[in-house]
Amino acid sequence: MEALHVYDTTLRDGAQQEGLNLSVSDKLAIAGLLDDLGVDFIEGGWPGANPKDTEFFERAGKELHLRRATLAAFGATRRVGGVAADDPLVQALVDSGASVVCLVAKSHTGHVERALRTTLEENLEMVRDTVSHLVGEGRRVFLDCEHFFDGWHLDRDYALSVVRTAHDAGAEVVVLCDTNGGMLPHQVEEVVSDVIAATGARIGAHCHNDTGCAAANSVAAVRAGATHVQGTVNGYGERTGNADLVTVAANLRFKLGLDAMEADSFRRAKHIAHAISEVTNVPAYSRQPYVGASAFAHKAGLHASALKVDPDLYQHMDPALVGNGMRTLVSDMAGRASIELKAREAGLDLSDRPDVVASVLAEVKDLELRGWTFDAADATVELMLREALEPGCTHYFEVESWRVITDSSGEGDATSEATVKLRADGSRLIATGEGNGPVNALDHALREALSRAYPEIEKIELIDFKVRILDASHGTDAVTRVLIETSDGESSWDTIGVAGSILAASWRALTDGIVHGLLRQGVPRR
Ligand SMILES: [Zn+2]
Repeated sequence: MEALHVYDTTLRDGAQQEGLNLSVSDKLAIAGLLDDLGVDFIEGGWPGANPKDTEFFERAGKELHLRRATLAAFGATRRVGGVAADDPLVQALVDSGASVVCLVAKSHTGHVERALRTTLEENLEMVRDTVSHLVGEGRRVFLDCEHFFDGWHLDRDYALSVVRTAHDAGAEVVVLCDTNGGMLPHQVEEVVSDVIAATGARIGAHCHNDTGCAAANSVAAVRAGATHVQGTVNGYGERTGNADLVTVAANLRFKLGLDAMEADSFRRAKHIAHAISEVTNVPAYSRQPYVGASAFAHKAGLHASALKVDPDLYQHMDPALVGNGMRTLVSDMAGRASIELKAREAGLDLSDRPDVVASVLAEVKDLELRGWTFDAADATVELMLREALEPGCTHYFEVESWRVITDSSGEGDATSEATVKLRADGSRLIATGEGNGPVNALDHALREALSRAYPEIEKIELIDFKVRILDASHGTDAVTRVLIETSDGESSWDTIGVAGSILAASWRALTDGIVHGLLRQGVPRR
């Protein structure tokens, strides 16, 4: 069997996703990350048809230093009635400098006759002419057969003749596309097996997720003999998206034992998938298979006690293989075992401190009744544990008071100014801060004051802020829950605050975020 191709189309098909807009620099950054991930091919876009993509290939030649991956240019077969050698769009593929060209062609008779408005014979000629011209120009050619599965069901002989024509003209791989995404795994398996038996061509699969089966369909194609899979990172793509390439490759490697990407590079998979979502500005999906933040998170107290004995009892694989980690969610369902596991995750040994486990558990349960939630606030739980183990160890400063004033000119725009008074390092620290909102102003004032006692705070910054107003369910007033993510540039942590006012809740989450950052750096209390 040929080595499996893992072919990424995030920059072309993935970029079709609603709301996703990539600059050329974004595309270059993503290409670098894809190379780190260990994919074999990176489809950069459609040079000639799209000026941004033409620029991408120009800059890629100078700026991208790919370690492992090969860049591919996407394009279409020549125009109806023309000649490939004279077609400017075909020439643009050659000019892109990419050594691999992936051509899209029609293989569904309805699309040839009604969308392309030409004869079935001319469509085959377009495939033959364009593939052989590009092979003659020294390019490796892959052919994407659009709507192949639907076309095969409508007119199998014609669909097969497109595959044969491309194969005979020198295409290295013929990729069967489920363009409308309507297939199920058993159908993909049937069609792929039939095409391989009937044509002997090397076959690939390009699946969309409209039935929720894109990853399953890609795996089914490989089981039926396909040796090339296409997909996108994080499953980006129009409608319901493309096959999630990391899910597909991880299934092939860890479940079927196939040689898809390097085992070593999978250890960076979670990090890379998340880094790409930073570039695309599409929030990472926490329940994503393998790389999601919740992919190996356990909540039930019952599970947690068994997890302590043997984590493998409750997870399908070692999360470290894909760069993820097991997490125990501390919640009202959690028992003592969850607290002990949480402590172990933070590097604290509570084995001979049942008193600490009991007091933190009681505190967690009490706070949860009042609207706190610790599923996404690991750092707050860690501070509670540390404080219970060594009272005073989280007291980096004393708060004397804080206040915020917000002014508006009446035109809708408002600015805020905060004043913070603290005590640390034997002195009284007073600072003011301005911001476009009250929390932003408080954050600035807090940092300004603390930086005099703790210059280490420089590295610590607030990176995400989420607010939720909780219902007044028991006849009490509504409370506000604030979750804050803080980073030191290398890692990040989450803290929570719950209070009657958004500012009081934010203050708690902000100060905990900073205290956790100082503790992490091993900064002594002053
Ligand atoms: Zn597609």
